[in-house]
Amino acid sequence: MEQSIEKKLNNLLKLQIIDSNIFDIKKVRGALPEEVQDLEDELIGYNTRLDKYNEKITNLNQDIDDLKNKVSEAKKLIKKYKDQQMNVRNNREFDAISKEIELQELDSKLFIKKSGENEIKIEAIKVDIKSTKKIIKETTVVLKAKKNDLNLLSAESQGEEDKLLKEKIKAAKRIESSLLLGYEKLVERQRNGLAVVKVKRSACGGCFNIVPPQRQTEIKEKKKIILCEYCGRILADVIAEEIPTKTPVKRTKRTSMKVTKKVTKKVTKKASK
Ligand SMILES: [Zn+2]
Repeated sequence: MEQSIEKKLNNLLKLQIIDSNIFDIKKVRGALPEEVQDLEDELIGYNTRLDKYNEKITNLNQDIDDLKNKVSEAKKLIKKYKDQQMNVRNNREFDAISKEIELQELDSKLFIKKSGENEIKIEAIKVDIKSTKKIIKETTVVLKAKKNDLNLLSAESQGEEDKLLKEKIKAAKRIESSLLLGYEKLVERQRNGLAVVKVKRSACGGCFNIVPPQRQTEIKEKKKIILCEYCGRILADVIAEEIPTKTPVKRTKRTSMKVTKKVTKKVTKKASK
């Protein structure tokens, strides 16, 4: 049940008209769907950032706890060493223990210093959290407004779009799958959503580059599917050349001259009577 090329081109043109209507509806909605999507993505990003901040704070607090434990262990050791110092048998033993105590005291100071640094880091992160939360709040407000706008616009055009989508499914069924696939790919590539165009005033209806007369003849014959050599769109037909605008002007002049003559004749007739 092979279709003729002419039939194929006509079916493609019908599908293109439906798609162009859908395209126009989407254009009215404009950049809103994308803007909503971008804002939603942004919010996900900010929330991930918040999670990471909180994770950092948890880790820093964990470190602080560990350091505090180390400090209290060091203090215990110091106390133990000091007790031992009471019972030393000679100076050498006393000095050795003194060194241990000194070491533990140094470690202890280091742990306290690190702990303090962690506290400062946590405070800095809390500032970041606050500003991120503020951004989230503001973004959420903008998102809500845009979503509202989009819902309103969608509600207005949804019925029309649904109808067109149903028509599209019907129209697409009349086109063989490989050709349909090629068409869909072509539509996606075009910024104006046009994949099937007619030649108008000797130019491609998609990119407006000149189509040579020989090609126009081939397109009109509809024996094969011809693509625009510049933009790759399917050239489905040639719109008949419009009559140059100069001619009607001449005609009106002539007509008015005739009218004048007639009037003059009438006048002359009347005069002769
Ligand atoms: Zn073109």
